[in-house]
Amino acid sequence: MTRPLDPRTCPTCGDPLRFEILDDERFLVAWSCVTCGLIRTTEPV
Ligand SMILES: [Zn+2]
Repeated sequence: MTRPLDPRTCPTCGDPLRFEILDDERFLVAWSCVTCGLIRTTEPV
């Protein structure tokens, strides 16, 4: 597995993730997978 992880793709099942903006000012986004239920949040440093 040399392919870099796509933050928009579920690392578990590989399905595309849906994103929901939690905080527009801090660009806090929650990514959720409808297939396996994974939820991850990203917050740029
Ligand atoms: Zn998934």
